[in-house]
Amino acid sequence: RLEIIQITSGARELDKILEGGIETGSITEIYGEFRSGKTQLCHTLCVTCQLPLDQGGGEGKALYIDAEGTFRPQRLLQIAERFGLNGADVLENVAYARAYNTDHQSRLLLEAASMMVCSYDSRQCYSSLQNRFFWKRRIVSEANASGKFGVAVVITNQVVAQVDGSAVFAGPQIKPIGGNIMAHASTTRLALRKGRGEERICKVISSPCLAEAEARFQISSEGVTD
Ligand code: ADP
Repeated sequence: RLEIIQITSGARELDKILEGGIETGSITEIYGEFRSGKTQLCHTLCVTCQLPLDQGGGEGKALYIDAEGTFRPQRLLQIAERFGLNGADVLENVAYARAYNTDHQSRLLLEAASMMVCSYDSRQCYSSLQNRFFWKRRIVSEANASGKFGVAVVITNQVVAQVDGSAVFAGPQIKPIGGNIMAHASTTRLALRKGRGEERICKVISSPCLAEAEARFQISSEGVTD
């Protein structure tokens, strides 16, 4: 069996409600309005997943599928410096792909899975794609079968308004990676909202094992912090 580990978000208070951080072996969906911090959290995770285990990392690599064109390598360099990592090494460990539409996203996801799992011929699977739902679950489980700790999958989703913790999702033009089907496969859902200034609030919306708690964090030039 795979060992599950938690990858630090960069903020202690946030890690506390996540019981350590973003978990490997499952899908975490982060949703929130424009500028609520989704992108900055993903940038931070690209760096922290590379940290040693005893520093809240996964000693791993990151794959960033960008549907908005908001990925900024320069930000990773600033965040790397904060954690005492070599910037060039950090960038070397982040694979990046720009997704131009939902189908493209799905294809990138399949390619990603095949990159992670050599024994798995994604092209063959794709051509025999009869049940997309089945294959998407399969991709996640196959990806998790790779390495010692599996992978942590984080998807972001932009919402247009929030009322009492429930969200109104933006139209079909904005979909999380892999489409809404992936959102249904997510095990942990986190809602982000804006506080005062650079403060942001994260709420655990649904999770099989976390309490419905809230945590405050900041966004700085060094990524997500307390
Ligand atoms: P989302 O992806 O949810 O739309 P972002 O993660 O891009 O939102 O968050 C945008 C916010 O992050 C900005 O409003 C700004 O407050 C903050 N931010 C982005 N870059 C920096 C930086 N270099 N220094 C400080 N704050 C930053």
